[in-house]
Amino acid sequence: MSVTRFRASCPDCRVTAELDALAFRLALGRTAERTFYSFTCPACGSAVRKHAGARIIDALTGAGVPTMKLHVGT
Ligand SMILES: [Zn+2]
Repeated sequence: MSVTRFRASCPDCRVTAELDALAFRLALGRTAERTFYSFTCPACGSAVRKHAGARIIDALTGAGVPTMKLHVGT
């Protein structure tokens, strides 16, 4: 069984890396504008956070990426 991999680019060092789904985190906000995915760049170690559209959310959750909800208690 293979783990789904995603390509992600780092805005700091501009490397495009291919990472396991489990290297990503998905933060679900109350609205799409507040929903982000994040990963640590394997090249420079920078913590990258990017806006996640519906298509990305579907792909990441379908691949088993851990999610956390940001709007608990609101
Ligand atoms: Zn980087």
